[in-house]
Amino acid sequence: MAVSKKLVLIGNGMAGVRTIEHLLKIAPERYDITIFGSEPHPNYNRIMLSSVLAGGADMNEIVINDWEWYKENNIKLHTGHKVTNIDTKRKKITSHLGIEVEYDAVIIATGSNPFMLPLPGADKEGVIGFRDINDCEAMIDASKNYRKAVVIGGGLLGLEAARGLLHLGMEVNVVHIHPYLMERQLDEAASKMLQRELEAQGMQFLLKKSTASIKGKRRASGLTFTDGTEVDGDLVVMAVGIRPNIELARASGIEVNRGIVVNDFMQTNIPGIYAVGECAEHRGITYGLVAPLYEQGAVLAKHLANVETTGYMGSVTSTKLKVSGVDVFSAGRFSDAPGTRALKFQDDLAGTYKKIVIQDGMLVGAVLFGDISDGAEFFASIKNEVSITGREKELLLGISSDLMGQSSGNNRLEAMADDEIICGCNGVSKGMIAEAITTKGCTTVGAIKSCTKASASCGGCKALVEGLLNLYAGDAIGEPVKEGICGCTTLSRDEIVSEMTRMRLMSTKEVMNVLEWHNPEGCTKCRPALNYYLGMLYPEEYVDEKESRFTNERYHANIQKDGTYSVVPRIYGGVTSPADLKKIAEVAEKFEVPLVKFTGGQRLDLLGVKKEDLPKIWEELDMPSGHAYGKTLRTVKTCVGSTFCRFGTQDAMGMGIRLEKAFERLTAPAKVKLAVSGCPRNCAEATIKDVGIIAIDGGWEIHIAGNGGVKVRATDLLCIVKTEDEVMEWSSAFLQYYRENATWNERTAHWVERIGLAPIKKALENREDRLALVERIQKTLSLTTDPWKQIVENDNLRKNFEQLPGAQPVQM
Ligand SMILES: Cc1cc2nc3c(=O)[nH]c(=O)nc-3n(C[C@H](O)[C@H](O)[C@H](O)COP(=O)(O)OP(=O)(O)OC[C@H]3O[C@@H](n4cnc5c(N)ncnc54)[C@H](O)[C@@H]3O)c2cc1C
Ligand code: SF4
Repeated sequence: MAVSKKLVLIGNGMAGVRTIEHLLKIAPERYDITIFGSEPHPNYNRIMLSSVLAGGADMNEIVINDWEWYKENNIKLHTGHKVTNIDTKRKKITSHLGIEVEYDAVIIATGSNPFMLPLPGADKEGVIGFRDINDCEAMIDASKNYRKAVVIGGGLLGLEAARGLLHLGMEVNVVHIHPYLMERQLDEAASKMLQRELEAQGMQFLLKKSTASIKGKRRASGLTFTDGTEVDGDLVVMAVGIRPNIELARASGIEVNRGIVVNDFMQTNIPGIYAVGECAEHRGITYGLVAPLYEQGAVLAKHLANVETTGYMGSVTSTKLKVSGVDVFSAGRFSDAPGTRALKFQDDLAGTYKKIVIQDGMLVGAVLFGDISDGAEFFASIKNEVSITGREKELLLGISSDLMGQSSGNNRLEAMADDEIICGCNGVSKGMIAEAITTKGCTTVGAIKSCTKASASCGGCKALVEGLLNLYAGDAIGEPVKEGICGCTTLSRDEIVSEMTRMRLMSTKEVMNVLEWHNPEGCTKCRPALNYYLGMLYPEEYVDEKESRFTNERYHANIQKDGTYSVVPRIYGGVTSPADLKKIAEVAEKFEVPLVKFTGGQRLDLLGVKKEDLPKIWEELDMPSGHAYGKTLRTVKTCVGSTFCRFGTQDAMGMGIRLEKAFERLTAPAKVKLAVSGCPRNCAEATIKDVGIIAIDGGWEIHIAGNGGVKVRATDLLCIVKTEDEVMEWSSAFLQYYRENATWNERTAHWVERIGLAPIKKALENREDRLALVERIQKTLSLTTDPWKQIVENDNLRKNFEQLPGAQPVQM
């Protein structure tokens, strides 16, 4: 048998060891392998450090190949050994502890170093990067002794570090030099949505800030900025970028530029010496994500095994942010460059945003926020350069995956190469998933996750994993793993509400504990939902958790895109008076409100108001809040009805005012809009409202579940009644039934589409049941108070709106 050649891998990280794994599969006997790693650990999944920090995994779970693996594969492993020299003439490697090893071939896979800003004070205790297990442990330790952390860098890594630190109970400020976050992956619109979500999770941002120095004596105590302002922090995490680790190569006379220069077969300029991973520069590009590095590794393994390969051609990359409750996806060239066309779709209510960028009929870039289910498809389309001419809008609006290519979803998955990466976070290829299904007997997504780690991090590839399961497991597919209301639980809305009732769980924390949430902090999907369900179940006992609400609800005003707020006083039924109009005009003048606008719901919106002016404006207005934010009753639009209109059959204005006075301040799973028209001509557009009342001769029609939003839905007729009192009774009962049964964030239109009209009619047909619902809604309504009255009268609450000395306006 031929004597094996000596192969040395420098760097026991993700790209290098993946190359060895490939090599062992295709040429197990060809090399006698030695690995040097400067970290004292076996090969682990660096990507999942973010999950460790955020409580989603422990250190043991992130090991990719344990100590046994090296033994089983006869690999000599030197952990804790930093290679200090490659003698390219004598073909010898030396480690800092003096170990020397001869080689026939060397792979340099030394990764990157975090870039540490050379700031005065950067050498203080408590200033770290975010790259390895050491950094992770330092953050966990700091959180036990200190309260405040500052993360410099609002990119992917910075935000993941910040999320982890929040989970560890620290107060976190993220400092970013740019006006918006993740500018390298997102456009401004998506970035602002992301910022809002993260603020709702408790993260604070200091944007457009350039750090001048790190304060503190021996240990860091905060940052000073070039504009003279400061922020406190006992832990400073620098996440401003990475630099390929090329020192060893440079010192050994290997050609380097930004990275170690390699050709399509990952060869450096010195024969027998290769580079792979973040330290390698291929065609002028260095990569910082695993998917391209694994592609490089697959090519290098084939080359080393003497198996024919076309070489590495470069990669299109995609990114996802691994922050629980926040779904962000970005791929390819997403900015509006000359020669490209962009299509965008933004739904601020659902918190979703989509942008696709097209050039020469092909998809070249995409950004998704809120709903990233199309991410994998978009990415495949970008990579495969599929023409999308004529289908651009269908694509943007999320039409079925079959439209993505000429072939069906299954055919497309079939056509994928085995080494194509499905799970970018964990570097799991189609072949690995296929093997898990066909040879290891995995028949559920959960089993594939445990076996391969596919979909274990951000979950963005789940649809593709399911597709492969369909493709390979066929009839053997097991019970689907149950989906919960979010990634923190497998329980559905109904199960949660019924357990809350059965066990009388009284706080979000208690619910999460008792019902065994995977993420003990919850996320931005489940926290507000639990807060709503508890408030709905226990209107008298439950104390609303402000921190579980979104910014608009916490400030009782709609935050605008320039960081200012809007003030919308209630104008019952759209009917106002000269005195109220005068008051609004005077306040608008006094506070120099930039814009006063009539809204679609027949009221006046004072736009461009500074946060600190909000309490003063409300105090002077002395009018009830219009609740133009949040998941509450918004408006009751009316026409003039029989009072003035010659066609009117009933008093639409009177009915509308009565309804609005009854239901103002009502919380609901989603916002609720009403309208009353005085005759079937329907000037108040009642048939696209959640509850639409239309006057007819001798009575009223009650319509429900209309929507005038993105997807217009005309109402369904619930019933016809004779009197105004009956309108009140049926509307009250319907709204309470909706409050008690819909999923949080589900508009009436979607709810009725989901469950159908029949069960609602059935639930309301019996008068006794109706009156019980009416009683419950009245109880809830009797406990509500006007938020602005409270704030205006309470100095502590007013303080929340004061501008802090030296603080900048919020950048949205
Ligand atoms: C917190 C975090 C989250 C991330 N999230 C994602 C993500 O979601 N998706 C994604 O695609 N990528 C992500 N990445 C990036 C991804 O982890 C890297 O792209 C990948 O680990 C790079 O692999 P590598 O082998 O080139 O380098 P590394 O994995 O860093 O391995 C290099 C190894 O070489 C060792 N070494 C260096 N010099 C020497 C020497 N002279 N002698 C011996 N050993 C040496 C280092 O100690 C290190 O262990 C993340 C990175 C971090 C830090
Ligand atoms: S809906 Fe009928 S009553 Fe109302 S304004 Fe129009 S025509 Fe007049």
